[in-house]
Amino acid sequence: MKLDCKHVWGYISDYIDNSVDPAVREDIERHLEHCEICSAILDSTRNILILTADERTFEVPVGFSEKLHRRLEEEIKKDPESGEK
Ligand SMILES: [Zn+2]
Repeated sequence: MKLDCKHVWGYISDYIDNSVDPAVREDIERHLEHCEICSAILDSTRNILILTADERTFEVPVGFSEKLHRRLEEEIKKDPESGEK
């Protein structure tokens, strides 16, 4: 199974929570090895989770994923070369 960026984005919060299927997790890790966009997203998502963890809540702000996905889609449209490598 090969994941594309959009699949990875859909799994990112579960991936950080460690609640994805081990097989999916492997696919995500394989994807992250060669995809700078998804690695950057994972990093920034982690930073947000760490910040919220400091406030003693583990919830990602409401609408965060939706906004992130929308912004990513805009970025991808701007630069069609920046997807899969
Ligand atoms: Zn990707």
